[in-house]
Amino acid sequence: MLTDCYFVLGVSPDASLTQIKRAYKRALKKLDAAPPGSDAHSRFMQIKDAYETLSNSSRRLDHNRMLIDSGSESEMDDGLFDSAFELLSGFERYSPSHDEIRETIEQNFTQQHLPKSMAQRELTVEVMMTPEQAARGGSVPIDFPVADVCHSCNGTGVSGFYLCDDCGGQGIDWISKRIDVLIPAHANDGTNIPVSLKPFGVSNLFLNVLVRIAAMSEQA
Ligand SMILES: [Zn+2]
Repeated sequence: MLTDCYFVLGVSPDASLTQIKRAYKRALKKLDAAPPGSDAHSRFMQIKDAYETLSNSSRRLDHNRMLIDSGSESEMDDGLFDSAFELLSGFERYSPSHDEIRETIEQNFTQQHLPKSMAQRELTVEVMMTPEQAARGGSVPIDFPVADVCHSCNGTGVSGFYLCDDCGGQGIDWISKRIDVLIPAHANDGTNIPVSLKPFGVSNLFLNVLVRIAAMSEQA
């Protein structure tokens, strides 16, 4: 059976790293105070494992995915929405602007080396869902642009003596990548899901998906 790390540490699915650290220390203290028993070691291992999982963003995402999988075995499809959201146009509220986001993503692919000092930008998008969707949890597909090597010029940007027509000499092609952001079951209004875009080659933009739950009266 899958162990719910949030349950082990007694934190909510949207707990911040600080909250997780605090809960970890609290759990260890409680363990110290408990009378020595045969299960103290296994309990310690469980707490340690839960902390290590939740304090690592990619392991945490995997864990969220496993929790959803284990909780929705009878569901044929864990998708919460029929179609994907476009990162650059599919969300209502934006800060930074569309152009800034596009530029930020582009820098990962058009600059040979990103300046080390460059701050990672954060982009928060809000996903509206019904109370039923939030209770069930599931995936929210989001499409965003990433670059691929231009196949016409193999990334050289030139074709013979001329600039490659297909990529305008940049050596890259823009393609759309889909990321399935997993919303844990029983998400609350305001639950924030941090999403790293690093696996897609975007290291300077960090995505926060904020769950918004529509009030009952607003539902069609
Ligand atoms: Zn090309």
